[in-house]
Amino acid sequence: LMLLTRKLIEVRNILKSVDHESDSLTLPSIVVIGSQSSGKSSVLEAIVGHEFLPKGSNMVTRRPIELTLIHEENKSGRDHVVEYGEFPGLGTGRITDFSQIQKTLFDLNMAVPAEECVSDAPIELRIHSPHVPDLTMIDLPGYVQIASMDQPEALREKISGLCDKYIQEPNIILAVCSADVDLANSPALRASRKVDPLGLRTIGVITKMDLVAPEDGAALLNNNKYPLALGYVGVVCKSGLFTRFRSKGHDSDGEGNISSAVLRQEDDYFSAHREHFKAPGRGRNAGVEPMVGTDTLRRRLMSVLEESMGSSLHTISSAVRMELEEASYQFKVQYNDRSITAESYVAETMDALKLQFKEFASSFGKPEVRALLKQALDDKVMDILAQLYWTDSRAPELSQLADNRKLAPEDLDRYWQHKLDASSGALTKSGIGRTSTQLVVDAIRTQVERLAQTEPFNHHPEAAERILTFSTAILKDRFGLTADQVENCVKPFKYAVEVEPQDWEAGRGRSVQLVERELSMCDDALNKLKKAIGGRRLKGAMDYVSELEERDRRRAMARLRTVQQSREESEGGAGSQRPLSERDLDDESDPLRPDYNSALLIKAREARFLQSRSDILRLRIAALKGRRCKLGPDSKAFCPEAFLNVVADKLTYTAVMFINIELLAEFFYQFPREIDSRLVYDMGREDLVKFARENPTVRRHLDLQDKRDRLSEAMEKLSSLQSLYEEKNPGKSGR
Ligand code: GDP
Repeated sequence: LMLLTRKLIEVRNILKSVDHESDSLTLPSIVVIGSQSSGKSSVLEAIVGHEFLPKGSNMVTRRPIELTLIHEENKSGRDHVVEYGEFPGLGTGRITDFSQIQKTLFDLNMAVPAEECVSDAPIELRIHSPHVPDLTMIDLPGYVQIASMDQPEALREKISGLCDKYIQEPNIILAVCSADVDLANSPALRASRKVDPLGLRTIGVITKMDLVAPEDGAALLNNNKYPLALGYVGVVCKSGLFTRFRSKGHDSDGEGNISSAVLRQEDDYFSAHREHFKAPGRGRNAGVEPMVGTDTLRRRLMSVLEESMGSSLHTISSAVRMELEEASYQFKVQYNDRSITAESYVAETMDALKLQFKEFASSFGKPEVRALLKQALDDKVMDILAQLYWTDSRAPELSQLADNRKLAPEDLDRYWQHKLDASSGALTKSGIGRTSTQLVVDAIRTQVERLAQTEPFNHHPEAAERILTFSTAILKDRFGLTADQVENCVKPFKYAVEVEPQDWEAGRGRSVQLVERELSMCDDALNKLKKAIGGRRLKGAMDYVSELEERDRRRAMARLRTVQQSREESEGGAGSQRPLSERDLDDESDPLRPDYNSALLIKAREARFLQSRSDILRLRIAALKGRRCKLGPDSKAFCPEAFLNVVADKLTYTAVMFINIELLAEFFYQFPREIDSRLVYDMGREDLVKFARENPTVRRHLDLQDKRDRLSEAMEKLSSLQSLYEEKNPGKSGR
């Protein structure tokens, strides 16, 4: 025996692991058909040596059971019999308790709803045992003989349809017939004759031989009426015998396994009637001893299947070769034969991440942080100036004072000194430590988020999440310390800021630029309004708004006077003068013009604001460029823009220094190490594969590569089998 069956089952399992759907490879199987209660289950159980099929009166086989028997060498002696079943489709793992297998099969069958009766979906079951031969068998629902109430015609047709599907080539048909029922009535034989009229791939099994007279039984086996090229085998294998045997404690006797005990029962029967089961002297089977017994059946099945496998070998090999060629071609075309592994993908991905991060680190150093912070502080300075100076109605005055050469800085009104101190304080006491640290933390976070969202991490949401989590943790860890350090070191500036002449000059220069930028933004906005509304119309509306404002101002003054008057009168006690009425205040002609709608008036007010802001900014630029501001730090009260700029610059310098040491350097050091320790090191083989397969491109690559590798493994096995087969069976290459 070449063990072709065994090898080909291996090949089939390899191919199944590539592509479960694929039907390209059909190995011959033994399909078991027979009517209900013909003894099908008993025969199968006798072959397996275990009771494992579901029992019951209510149609318990509703799905095909694809049974693969795998012979296991009993290496460790009879104390360690390796017998187990597994359901590959369920991932149950090894089940050593056969009643558990029986229960699982029962549940799987009963899961088919009663109204559907039978289902095409096969149940896969593998049984490993030293007592089984290598066989692939398919158990099908039994034919319904007589349609009845609970087994209607439709069910009958459904079952024979299902059987018809399975009894096609290259399968071998095991037609089970009961000895006590006329063979002419056997639906199994009828079905097989339709697809295999000569019985070239049909084995007849006559069950329940003990129920008929031995001579009648022997006559059935020498059957001339319904001849089968592969012949008939007679058996006696009552199901339930196992259980009876076990309960009698026979399983610990000599041979020690149940199947041998059952076989002995059968043996007893055929030995007792030996004279009837001898080779007939005449007829078709003259000189040929009839085949009896489960063991004979088993050997018969093995050799028939083996033979069939041999003739299928060539077909299977060509099918696999074609699939392999296609897969290799695709692999070449799509991936240029480049091999990958989950490990290599993970390593490459992490290296790329580190590289990208390194690029970010080198593009986000001191100068960039400085620019970031300075920008934020410049904005803050502008806000302070706008609030404290540019909206002050006395602001133009300050510019005039600056022009007064005779005025010494110490003679300047205290008002302006206070303003300068207030502005400087607003800047230095605004919580620079936290705000500047937060700015940098946000910038880093944004960058890390970008890394975690872009290819390939968009495919790896879990890893991306981890990157964000550990980044946040590092940043959080450094935040408080950094903010405190910065705040501590800017503390002196809260009391006094020493300004060197060259600092001053640089600050003055920058402040001119900033105010000029502010001015041009202001002018742009104003021009936009003019363009949108029309210069003249806007001018008219602005004049009108100014008239309104003037009128409101006068009214307010008048009202104030009235209040004062009435207070004086009540104090003086004299009531002679008539109080001013509202009418007296409204003596001017009403300037309301109905063609100005409220939207336009809002725009006009905005334009007036921009106009006056623009005017004051022009004055300030002139002042900053003027002689007084050029004199140096002593004139700071005349030039708050320049002074605040110098302060902002000093704050920035200090903040950058500490943020760089406490936050940036630490983060840049820790991040790549965290990638290793949080992403890579705790990944097991399974995690690596899971990670790699999250990326659809990589998954396809791996799948195709895997398919090619498995096909080529299968092909190798097939090739050596084929040459071996041809060597042993010259001229019988299966072609
Ligand atoms: P299935 O419905 O075709 O699977 O048939 P079973 O294997 O369940 O057998 C039907 C009935 O016939 C059961 O009660 C078995 O015990 C009985 N039976 C099966 N084989 C034999 C046999 O060889 N001799 C006798 N006397 N009874 C048998």
